Amino acid sequence: MKANDIVVIGAGLTGATIAQQIVEKTDRNVLLIEKSSKVGGMCATTPYKDIVLHDYGPHIFFTKEKELWDYVNRFGDFRQYRAQVKASVDDRLYSLPFNMNTFQELWGIKEPYLAAQKLAKSKVKFENPDLNFETKALSLVGEELYQKFIYGYTKKQWGCEPKELPAFIISRLPIRLYYDNSYQSALFSGIPIEGYTKLVENMVDHPRIKVKLNEDGNNYKPDFHTGAIDEFYKYKFGELGYRYLSFVWARAMLDKYGVQAVNFPGLNVAHTRIACNKHLGCHDSECNIVSYEYSHGEMADGRIQAYPINTPKNNDLYQKYKSKSDINFTGRLGSYKYVNMDQAIKLGMETAQCLKNSK
Ligand code: UDP
Repeated sequence: MKANDIVVIGAGLTGATIAQQIVEKTDRNVLLIEKSSKVGGMCATTPYKDIVLHDYGPHIFFTKEKELWDYVNRFGDFRQYRAQVKASVDDRLYSLPFNMNTFQELWGIKEPYLAAQKLAKSKVKFENPDLNFETKALSLVGEELYQKFIYGYTKKQWGCEPKELPAFIISRLPIRLYYDNSYQSALFSGIPIEGYTKLVENMVDHPRIKVKLNEDGNNYKPDFHTGAIDEFYKYKFGELGYRYLSFVWARAMLDKYGVQAVNFPGLNVAHTRIACNKHLGCHDSECNIVSYEYSHGEMADGRIQAYPINTPKNNDLYQKYKSKSDINFTGRLGSYKYVNMDQAIKLGMETAQCLKNSK
């Protein structure tokens, strides 16, 4: 390592983007440190037979920003793909996000104007619906949809009552008065054909980027860090809240699902959702490999730190750490923001820009 090498911790999408942008836009060298045995962070993948396994649940890259779509397409071919999700409720599968297919399946209503009338009657009125997750959800969809599809899922996913959570989390899900089961509405949407780990390997494949795997980074003074700020500073101001995920893998002779993801909002089962990996593009494969996803409040072996819990208290604590740090923390964990993959890349681009401007 040379004295003016830039040290980046974490080879997920943000860390890889920082490294890639630095060598593209400056003459500096980058040392990219990753604690796991492969690059890709939370969207890491493993090729298996004719399919690609998503190690930490299904990841579909989607964005409204052409610049970000063009950027990822530089590093691998993408399969055009729009996420399809069902919810398993009362032993039936319903379409998500809420759209005319859901309203027909649930209420037998096929005309949008009738669904609009029914929804309008169901919505609960609050003076300030943005107060928390629950008031926001009830104000958008009403009690029936909230209880059937949202309350239990959210309680399992976040480990608390939904009213303790911020409203923006439920605003991630669109509500459509037309027939469209695409989980997201973004203009550009796809999955890298060879998987995200290969995509990230291509991003950092450069003579001036050195990648070190299986290293926790404790021996380095980082310039950019994409991991948890509280852990880095040994929790000196207290612990930030995160949700951790674990996955149980199973292989079946036959396809039981026919779709890439099924959510389980019922509190009678512990997992939040399953992913049927072949339906992330290779629908005709005979590999029926399914991962069951569980959400937890603490780290343990085999779990990944996945979501910041953005309550006002946690956000304030994060700001305290951040204001006393001379290291640039970024990415989903490092910036303590619930961002999607495209925004993780954007954070990486903006962060690398800081270096370019300041050196
Ligand atoms: N959600 C829910 N039921 C579902 C799917 C989502 O209640 O079937 C809520 C839940 O609180 C979740 C949030 O909507 O955390 C955002 O969902 P999204 O699918 O965007 O979550 P992610 O894929 O990022 O975990």
